Amino acid sequence: MEAGGPHPEPLTKNAMAGTFFSMEVRDRYAPSPTGLQHIGGLRTALFNYLFAKSRNGKFILRLEDTDRARFDKLYVDNLYESFEWLGFHWDEGPDSGGPAAPYVQSERLGKYREHARRLIENGHAYYCFCSAERLDTLRREREAGRSNEQGYDRHCRNIAPDEAARRTARESYTIRLKIPLGEKTVFNDALLGPVEWKNDDVSPDPVLLKSDGFPTYHLANVVDDHLMGITHVLRAQEWLSSTPLHTIMYRAFGWVPPVFCHLPMVMGQDGKKLSKRHGATSIDEFRKKGFLPDALLNYVALLGASYEEGREIYTPDELCALFSLEKLNKAPAVFDYKKLEWYNARYIRMKTDAGLAALALPYAVRDGLFGEPGSPPDTRQLALFNAAAPLVKERAVFLSDIPEKLAYLFSEPPVPETSEFIPKKSSLEDTRRLLNLGRSLTARTAGSDDEGAERLAKETAEKEGVKLGDLLMPLRVAITGSRVSPPLFGSIRLLGAETCLARIDRALEKLDRP
Ligand code: GLU
Ligand code: ZN
Repeated sequence: MEAGGPHPEPLTKNAMAGTFFSMEVRDRYAPSPTGLQHIGGLRTALFNYLFAKSRNGKFILRLEDTDRARFDKLYVDNLYESFEWLGFHWDEGPDSGGPAAPYVQSERLGKYREHARRLIENGHAYYCFCSAERLDTLRREREAGRSNEQGYDRHCRNIAPDEAARRTARESYTIRLKIPLGEKTVFNDALLGPVEWKNDDVSPDPVLLKSDGFPTYHLANVVDDHLMGITHVLRAQEWLSSTPLHTIMYRAFGWVPPVFCHLPMVMGQDGKKLSKRHGATSIDEFRKKGFLPDALLNYVALLGASYEEGREIYTPDELCALFSLEKLNKAPAVFDYKKLEWYNARYIRMKTDAGLAALALPYAVRDGLFGEPGSPPDTRQLALFNAAAPLVKERAVFLSDIPEKLAYLFSEPPVPETSEFIPKKSSLEDTRRLLNLGRSLTARTAGSDDEGAERLAKETAEKEGVKLGDLLMPLRVAITGSRVSPPLFGSIRLLGAETCLARIDRALEKLDRP
């Protein structure tokens, strides 16, 4: 960064954006709706989002939906749902300004055709009339090792322009880029530094406009990045090999290319590219499992970037302020599912009780906590659910854990096996006595708060000469149906003494007839 003159004003973030970087940052996330949104895409979207915000710039969403064979509306819906869930907003759309709809390439076909023609006119592209059969034969020969050509053999590259133009009237054609041979293409990646490719190694004269009039990815991507004034392209490293070609295209159009920054790969812990083999990868799966969007965003923001040494928790605003290209790592990022779970548990604990209840409610409805799966709570159930949220806050790792952990509050759990009630080193006889002590303790806790109830329990244990743990264990099993449960006295308070005593009596019956 260099100073370009006197700076009378203090260097606030705004002042910096205006003074040092004369242009407004505009970046984009440009997914192809050919699959569900996944972690890799989320990382790309997030880094673009954070980068734009960190520089007071604009973040654009652009659907690259020109591959009609692989298009599915389902994936478009999934993209919007994921964005909504994550709280991402794009800053601009075709009707400009308004963030209503993003840019969609299939609505802009005329622009790509016009630009392909421009390259024909300036000699940087040509019509190709090769039939699909001819191209197939080429491919087969290559695969059989009978040819060393890397791809298209540039068969139509030297057809005289006049003749080619005449043929377009009656023959089907594609438009191909005329890659200048014998030269090198260099671009400066913001993360990887200078990257140099021999043009002869770039895919030979790739198609820009297909015979059906649709652009290929390369044409639509470059034309749109230019028309939309994109200043920075932050994208996955798998696109690095397309960038020499894109650089050649910018030159052919006479345009200045944007800054390219190819983000570090995201790997599984075995060092292989993150995939389904490693675990959940689609945003949908994370959502269904009960991850919080802010936990996921916090974790993903650290995939390939370091902000402050040793710090792990960042709010979205902090990330927006801290992000910069200098903080990206070159080394691949490793996706650690356990670490993400740690984040999720942390974020669950950071919620208010009411906030957590609201977040967990849809999972409880989905999983049938209030009746049939999908049925909503009645007023009493809703009040109970809200009151129970603090009991699970400290223990839940996923929102989807919560309904299961609280099930015993909403329906009577089956009475467990006798052996479940018996504390270590105790007999069945002892256990009956312990549970009877627990019964009278329960009756006495009515009306006290959880700490008061706990004090009573300690007193009882002392007075009766039993261990507190041994006193509470059979009681917990009787009331919650399990040895492991949310806090016992909170549970007793929420269930009410009457329900608890009934459960204890059923358990005592079982212990009497083991
Ligand atoms: N449509 C491409 C994709 O699916 C965009 C790549 C780029 O960002 O240039 O990832
Ligand atoms: Zn051809």
